[in-house]
Amino acid sequence: MASSHTVLMRLVASAYSIAQKAGTIVRRVIAEGDLGIVEKTCATDLQTKADRLVQMSICSSLARKFPKLTIIGEELVVWVDPLDGTKEYTEGLLDNVTVLIGIAYEGKAIAGVINQPYYNYQAGPDAVLGRTIWGVLGLGAFGFQLKEVPAGKHIITTTRSHNSQLVTDCVAAMNPDDVLRVGGAGNKIIQLIEGKASAYVFASPGCKKWDTCAPEVILHAVGGKLTDIHGNALQYNKEVKHMNSAGVLATLRNYDYYASRVPESVKNVLVP
Ligand code: AMP
Ligand code: MG
Ligand code: MG
Repeated sequence: MASSHTVLMRLVASAYSIAQKAGTIVRRVIAEGDLGIVEKTCATDLQTKADRLVQMSICSSLARKFPKLTIIGEELVVWVDPLDGTKEYTEGLLDNVTVLIGIAYEGKAIAGVINQPYYNYQAGPDAVLGRTIWGVLGLGAFGFQLKEVPAGKHIITTTRSHNSQLVTDCVAAMNPDDVLRVGGAGNKIIQLIEGKASAYVFASPGCKKWDTCAPEVILHAVGGKLTDIHGNALQYNKEVKHMNSAGVLATLRNYDYYASRVPESVKNVLVP
């Protein structure tokens, strides 16, 4: 019987190629021009043909390659966001979009793959579109160049399309030098590891386990930290509630500074 390490590395390697294929589907749907948008719960909670096709593609590929995944499913859980940043996808903010495949073992996020289908899309007609970032806890994260925000600068990245008073209050309490409002949880973690933002602050429910699992691993693999707004680690076992009800706080460096500035009034509203 294959050891759990062998299964994990096979799973990561498969997730890498599956995420790349997903990226081509995301680009094809845009190229074909019919996004097939439906509203899930409201006008800012959308699903497109790309979400549906990528979901099917990832699930069927995983099921074909790992027919026994459900058997080891008690311990090993795969969290998939076929398209993260759907709202931005429908509005042409294409580099905000990612495909997220996160792998959790006994409730802890341990491996992750992020495909960014439109990486480089503003770099001219000859640029190669898309990239895949991947990481395993204890091994490292690959497919990008780690950069840090200049020392002493507090650049906050937060939601573009799911804002609220609480989100704004919490960001203001960080004493930011700059605030970036962009789509996608995957995209915001990429900003942290590429030195574009120092903290991802989202004092709101709405973000789900499939939004944070893969990005959390990439960030943790390079020494960063992602928690809820109270500082609690997120759990990814099969039975866990999907919603990250107590928001998200993530940084590459200086986590304690940002955690210390979350107002009590915000913490009182966001119950884990
Ligand atoms: P955002 O930063 O707004 O792009 O959100 C990151 C992820 O969380 C995306 O997948 C969103 O769809 C999801 N999300 C955040 N807030 C909400 C909300 N209020 N309703 C639905 N989805 C949300
Ligand atoms: Mg998402
Ligand atoms: Mg999605």
